Amino acid sequence: MARAFNFSAGPAMLPEAVMRKAESEFLDWQGTGMSVMEMSHRSKEYMSVAHKMEADLREVMVIPDNYKVLFIHGGASMQFAAIPMNLAQQNDTVDYLNTGVWSTKAIKEASRFATVNVIAGGQEANPTEVPSIEDWNFSKDAKYIHICSNETITGLELQDEHFDAVFAQGKPVIADMSSNIMCREIDVSKYAMIYAGAQKNIGPAGLAIVIVRQDLLGNARSDTPTLLNWDTYAENESMFNTPATYAWYLAGLVFDWIKNTGGVKAISKINESKASKLYDFIDASDFYSNSIKVSERSWMNVTFNLKNTELDADFLEQSKSAGLLSLKGHKAFGGMRASIYNAMPEEGIDALIDFMKKFALENA
Ligand code: PMP
Repeated sequence: MARAFNFSAGPAMLPEAVMRKAESEFLDWQGTGMSVMEMSHRSKEYMSVAHKMEADLREVMVIPDNYKVLFIHGGASMQFAAIPMNLAQQNDTVDYLNTGVWSTKAIKEASRFATVNVIAGGQEANPTEVPSIEDWNFSKDAKYIHICSNETITGLELQDEHFDAVFAQGKPVIADMSSNIMCREIDVSKYAMIYAGAQKNIGPAGLAIVIVRQDLLGNARSDTPTLLNWDTYAENESMFNTPATYAWYLAGLVFDWIKNTGGVKAISKINESKASKLYDFIDASDFYSNSIKVSERSWMNVTFNLKNTELDADFLEQSKSAGLLSLKGHKAFGGMRASIYNAMPEEGIDALIDFMKKFALENA
């Protein structure tokens, strides 16, 4: 069976080269007679996998030496609690920008551990644009500022002007990059902490990556559970307990693939071209539409609606038969969503556009 183009928001498509490599090493990793899945995480063999994985991530994201990279179970959502627990006390104020569902979840969890000031947003569950910067209200004494760089459900992505406004505050900036990490080059040194669940641009589910400036460690509240305390991971090479060994290995293969593809710089050019091709097609069509402010549209999650929503079910059924999977939008936002992460090849976009054209013609 041929591999389909899978537009799932996550867990999402992984590069075919990565899957083939994993397949070839599945039963016997480099002559050891065992799968990576079967290795002790303390073994020399596994440590070499882990060290290479971290080194490759540091290389592709250009992570400065004064940052620790932590590999943590529990997904991005667990960090919603870990962030305030590691950086604030109960009476401290923390600033959060609300750009959608994922920001809202982070705010809700942080509110249990600190006093949250919402910089702007939150009036609508699924805003189609970022609140305008003139309306942002930062608090004077916030311990940190939290942003979600890409709202996965709507496909709303922060732009340079938003990052500039946040960095201009001179406070530690925390970014949830779950759905756009490594989609373009960023300057890690501007952030206090970056986190992402793995299951979109990194690898399989079961792992979150935390990149944290070292001077922010050692400040967790005293009641922080051991496995929510970043120090535990920083002091134990993320192996205080058994890590998600196979997920780490696959993430390592993805970082290697990024290097072989020309790094994040080369991938970002492909991403820009993929996204603009799809948005241009949608904009030129009177059968499909996208409701996100044009300058704030995501490169990774392209949402769209059929003008006649009665055709939604047919669209999904026929696209699936054509080998274009998981195009149904998130239930909170409706419509369709094509998640086109780094692993989605350009041919996937072409196949999707061809299908959308044909479907529009047949149902006009
Ligand atoms: N933040 C964003 C932006 C996400 O898209 C997601 C998952 N879709 C999460 C956080 C939560 O990630 P996890 O399921 O790994 O907890």
